Amino acid sequence: MSFAKIYGHSRQIDMLRQTMTQGRVAHSYLFSGPDAIGKKTVALAFAAALNCADAAGSDACGVCASCRKMTSGHHPDLHLLATQAQFLRIDAVRGIQEQMAFKPLEGRRRIFILDDADKMNEQAANALLKTLEEPSADNILLLVTARPYWLPQTILSRCRHVRFSPLSVQTVARFLTEQKKEEPSRAAVLASLSGGSIGRALELNSEETMAFREALGRLLSDADQGALPRPIALASFLAQDKREIRRGLAILKSFFRDALVFRETAAASMTINADALPLVSALAARLTGEDLLHNIALVDKAHETIEMNVNKSLTLEAMAFKLHL
Ligand SMILES: [Zn+2]
Repeated sequence: MSFAKIYGHSRQIDMLRQTMTQGRVAHSYLFSGPDAIGKKTVALAFAAALNCADAAGSDACGVCASCRKMTSGHHPDLHLLATQAQFLRIDAVRGIQEQMAFKPLEGRRRIFILDDADKMNEQAANALLKTLEEPSADNILLLVTARPYWLPQTILSRCRHVRFSPLSVQTVARFLTEQKKEEPSRAAVLASLSGGSIGRALELNSEETMAFREALGRLLSDADQGALPRPIALASFLAQDKREIRRGLAILKSFFRDALVFRETAAASMTINADALPLVSALAARLTGEDLLHNIALVDKAHETIEMNVNKSLTLEAMAFKLHL
């Protein structure tokens, strides 16, 4: 993996490259930001760049022996620590300390990537703190986490903090069209539902998601003559799969957002759900701009509330009854 192949995160990558060209690489970094947006990918590219045989550049060449081993995950100086368990334990940190006593085996630096670093228990964190207090020039620690606030302040203060944001919708869509050869219209829909995460967009890329979106669209359409009042039908549809509520809300919001855009521009090309134009234009005709803004705010609010683990069905019903439909 090289920096050049990464989609987005250009500000963070530029900063890391600059520290390399200026010879100011720190001993420990904290990469923080939402889950599954590419923090670990950037950490791996940084590790590869730091050990690439083409030492003049600030990116991995991808072809030298070091880069090839980094890519295959077999570089003896790259240590990726992650735990499937609840905690990252002290043995793992002790292992790091033992390694650090020796020179790197092949590369210029030995790199430890601690994924989900917030999972360290107290003992492990204390041991790691000792390591951070006695840095060694040959070793670099990269802590990766979506929850930096769970790490002790003493650790945070000893790491250079690099903050990552979700990717833009355009960047995710570009990845899908360029790397996965998706149709631009489908890529736009998936990207808008991905929350700025390529991993999430790939997860959503299924016929099931597309069928779900179609069914949700039908519930909003003028032709809907279901047995249940529309808000009840909508709330129970969104609640049917508890793990996928966020996906449902993202799709619902995208319909309201599209209707708002379509009201203003009458341009299908500006919409996310360009393939569902009859529904988008019907919503745009049926609802005012104010209605649509009101609905978008309600969906956002429901999303926030559900993130806080409040009763999901109740939240969805409360939202559905307030929507202007
Ligand atoms: Zn290389």
